[in-house]
Amino acid sequence: MNPEKLTTGAQEQREESSVPSTRPPEKEDLSEGLLKRRADRVSMETPIAVRGQDLEGEAFGEQTKAILLSRLGAAIVLKRALAPGSQIVIRNLATGSEAPCRVVNQLGVRSDGCLYGVSLLDPGVNLWGIGFPPLAKARNTAARLLLHCEACRNAEVVYMDEMEAEVFAAHSFLSRFCSQCQRRSLWRDGLPETPFKPIAISDVRTTNERLQPRVQVRLRVCIRQPGAAEEVLFSDNVSRGGLSFKCPSHYIAGSIIQIAVPFSLSSGNVFVPARIVYARPVRTEGSIHHGATYIQAK
Ligand SMILES: [Zn+2]
Repeated sequence: MNPEKLTTGAQEQREESSVPSTRPPEKEDLSEGLLKRRADRVSMETPIAVRGQDLEGEAFGEQTKAILLSRLGAAIVLKRALAPGSQIVIRNLATGSEAPCRVVNQLGVRSDGCLYGVSLLDPGVNLWGIGFPPLAKARNTAARLLLHCEACRNAEVVYMDEMEAEVFAAHSFLSRFCSQCQRRSLWRDGLPETPFKPIAISDVRTTNERLQPRVQVRLRVCIRQPGAAEEVLFSDNVSRGGLSFKCPSHYIAGSIIQIAVPFSLSSGNVFVPARIVYARPVRTEGSIHHGATYIQAK
């Protein structure tokens, strides 16, 4: 599939008629689980060391990885079987910091081990070295991604409005205020360890310098829905609270998707739940035009 192709060309033909469904609608209990999130989750592989007692009561130490990071905990991969409720100590091998955690539940089985959800015993500990803004600030957010300050290397989940998302889409970096530097600085995606190209200052355009509002914000996005392959495509438009996109797949109106806006090909993506509000076939393009709204955390 060529995602570039989906957002160019012919005028869309909007049709209100319903489209035969290719995906089963979400069950309510599943979407309920997705909506109960209390913190953003950053999709990022991080090397960790885990020690504790396994299901048999045997002490163990294992070098492995976390694959989802949040202010409150993580999803980790482990070969050892663990009991829900048991305590382990996780060391972040990237930063050296460690913290006691509680095993919440087993999330699934992978080829490299079991996936466990764990929560920090002390939510005040910053085990991942990532700043997470309060979820309440996510209202009216158009896009979110893990970015870091190039000056001080401070990493944060950054909420962007439409203009910031547009600047980021055009330049792959953002000029924004850094609370550590106490001034405006350049922010790039991912953690500072990831290799980066130096930025020519003359290339930088701040959000205030934009002359006229643009209607379309094309961002690379990634969509996940249980039972379907992950889909990476470009948005037609991104606004506070939602986005529109075209793709050959049909996501049923009313169903829940997990979506990363923007989607970084390196890492640090934040998947949030969104509800498909419309799905209209564009006959001339053989694709379906979708609108989706972000679901705010409760
Ligand atoms: Zn800084």
